[in-house]
Amino acid sequence: MNIDDLPPLRDVIARHGLAAKKTLGQNFLLDLNITARIARAAEIAPGDLVYEVGPGPGGLTRALLAAGARVVAVERDERCLEALAEVAAAYEPGRLTVIPGDALEIDEMAVLGGQPAKVVANLPYNVGTALLIRWLSADPWPPWWRSLTLMFQREVAERLTALPREDAYSRLSILAQWRCRVRHHFDLNPKAFVPPPKVTSTVVGLTPLPAPEHECRLPALERVTAQAFGQRRKMLRQSLKGLGIPPEALLDAAGIAPTARAEELGVADFARLARLLP
Ligand code: SAM
Repeated sequence: MNIDDLPPLRDVIARHGLAAKKTLGQNFLLDLNITARIARAAEIAPGDLVYEVGPGPGGLTRALLAAGARVVAVERDERCLEALAEVAAAYEPGRLTVIPGDALEIDEMAVLGGQPAKVVANLPYNVGTALLIRWLSADPWPPWWRSLTLMFQREVAERLTALPREDAYSRLSILAQWRCRVRHHFDLNPKAFVPPPKVTSTVVGLTPLPAPEHECRLPALERVTAQAFGQRRKMLRQSLKGLGIPPEALLDAAGIAPTARAEELGVADFARLARLLP
C-alpha cells in the first residue's frame, strides 16, 4: 500500500541505523496497512489534532498524517529524530511536530496549545500502563483528550475490558470503565512487529464519559479498590480492614454482603463504597 511518497520503513530503519532497543520498548510496525487500520480505529477526520507517544521510525505517524491529522509526537529516542524530520518535510509545515523527550514528563496541555486531542499510540510496553493511568486520572474531567486509541500487550488490554468474575478484572478495569467507554478493536500477531514481541498485542479504544455514571471522588475510589484488590480472593469484611472504618458497617451501608469478594463487585458497587469514605 502506498499511503504517501515516502520510502519503505525498512529502508528508513536501515539508513538511520534504528536497530530496535529493548530498553525503550521498541517493537516497530512496518506494515502501513496495519498502521492505517489503527488510524481508522481512531476515526481520524481531516484536521483532527492527534497526540502520539513514541513515533519511532514513523509508521503510525505516517498513517495518521495520511488520514489528515495534525500530529504532535513525543519521542524519547534521539536516533529517530532525523527520520521523523523527513516525514515532517513531506507535509505542509505544522502538520507534524516532533518533541524530543520522555512522555512521562511532558505537560500535554502545554505542547498541544490547550487544544483537545485524540491520543493514538503503539505504546512502549515499559511505560504504557503508567501513561494510561495518568490519562485516566486527568483532572479536570472530561479530560484534555477526546479519545485514546492504544496498542498494548493483550494482557493489559484484557484488564481494561474485563468484567466482574473474569480473571483479568482488576483495579485498572474499574478505573477505565468508571470514566470511559472501553472497546476492544483488534489483536495483532507478534509477527506484525520488528522485532516480534513475546506476546500478542491488542488495540483498544477509550472514549471519556462526560461524567462517570456512578459518581464518587477518584482518590476514594482508588483507596477502596487498592484495599479490595490487594487481597482479591479474600472476603471484603477482611480485605477492607485497612480503610480506617469497620468493614462490616461500611459494607452494610453500601448494601454489599460482607462475604462478597473484590472480583464480584461491579463499578457501581465500588463507587457506592467510595462515596461512603470520609
Ligand atoms: N510508533 C512506532 C511504531 O508503531 O512502529 C514505534 C512504537 S514502539 C512500541 C515504542 C516507541 O516509544 C519507540 O519509538 C520508543 O523509542 C518510544 N519511547 C519509549 N519510551 C518512551 C517515553 N518514555 N517517552 C516517549 N517515547 C518513548
